[in-house]
Amino acid sequence: MKTKTLRKNKVNVITLGCAKNIFDSEVMMAQLKANQFEVEHESEKEDAEIVIINTCGFIDNAKEESINTILNWAREKEMGNVHKLYVTGCLSERYKPELEKDIPEVDAFFGTRDLPRLLKTLKADYKHELVGERLLTTPAHYAYFKISEGCDRPCSFCAIPLMRGKHTSTPVNELVEGAKKLAAQGTKELILIAQDLTYYGLDVSKKRELPDLLRRLSDVDGIEWIRLQYAFPSGFPMEILDVMNERKNICKYLDMPLQHATTKMLTAMRRGITREKTDALIQQIREKVPGIALRTTLITGFPGETKEDFEEMKSWVEATRFDRLGVFQYSHEENTHAYGLKDDVPARTKKKRADEIMEIQSQISFELNQQKVGKTYRILVDRVEGDYFVGRTEFDSPEVDNEVLVSKKKHFLRIGDMVDIKIEQAEHYDLFGSPVE
Ligand code: SF4
Repeated sequence: MKTKTLRKNKVNVITLGCAKNIFDSEVMMAQLKANQFEVEHESEKEDAEIVIINTCGFIDNAKEESINTILNWAREKEMGNVHKLYVTGCLSERYKPELEKDIPEVDAFFGTRDLPRLLKTLKADYKHELVGERLLTTPAHYAYFKISEGCDRPCSFCAIPLMRGKHTSTPVNELVEGAKKLAAQGTKELILIAQDLTYYGLDVSKKRELPDLLRRLSDVDGIEWIRLQYAFPSGFPMEILDVMNERKNICKYLDMPLQHATTKMLTAMRRGITREKTDALIQQIREKVPGIALRTTLITGFPGETKEDFEEMKSWVEATRFDRLGVFQYSHEENTHAYGLKDDVPARTKKKRADEIMEIQSQISFELNQQKVGKTYRILVDRVEGDYFVGRTEFDSPEVDNEVLVSKKKHFLRIGDMVDIKIEQAEHYDLFGSPVE
């Protein structure tokens, strides 16, 4: 029944979920390569004898995607197209006993902090000397940069602490070493990620060390952009903004998930902040760093969310005019604090509310983009797509934010270059422009 020749000692790594999982897969791939495995990420050839799936267990949709991916590869294994199938990551951390029982085709399941054991199972060693080494799966010019693992926050809807454990900051020197190695291989943009970026250092020195870390990373030669994602609003260290103003290579961009607008919902979500304090923080950030792009994420349909709560959130989104915004529909996750509440908002209402928010945001994004026409922005060229070179300004993170499109018919750009582009036309999420001569 075997249909193809599988390459001995070749590993195909499949990554699901968020940028933190991408980072973990890249670290795992560097370890495998150093142990003489041939490694590919989401290989189209599918000729690897070993497949490792790095799963996501965040919310329903993500869990479903992870389970379907495992089942697909389990079928491939039964058909002889894979010899060994391993599963790691958040879903595996959270549901190992159930998965082991339900999907016996998988050779072994590993948790989120189990890389040494996974390597041992492949008769490989965990090489400590590889600190900061990664095999990038993103284009070489940008890299996700995880500065800590886990989370100590009590957000009532969130299962991440169950899967990622307590907050653990990665030592500064290790991060600076990692940044130097990336810069040496041509990386220009570091996208700083964590469960809660602003918590950095509190577990080590009881002090918020992110501002100092930013200065150290900003000193690394070759790093042109440092982007901040997943900042937490409560206890937000304002000194970060001073460093942002002080250092040209720290993007005037801040991703800060706020989740909701009403104090009633924020309290039920155990976010440790009120509506008034949230608005004051946003105002302070915009005053301290004029022109900063603010990205946020919201949840619709949290237990107890009334029509009035939602109306208040809608008018807040209209008034606050975030530069970038994403919405999740509440997912009732067992073993979270909110699981004890009644999931009383129907799924279609959760979806309808999420769509309404995105409708409002799409109009705001269109209006804000019109103000960019005629202006020149430095972009990082990410890729070619159809008739266009596609890039981003410092106000846009990959995959989730706006893009700048430059016609291939009229111009030539090199992927990975930073180029000044004059914006000629703007749509809801795309800008069109030409290089400044
Ligand atoms: S900060 Fe809150 S939402 Fe974010 S990972 Fe931690 S517990 Fe979850």
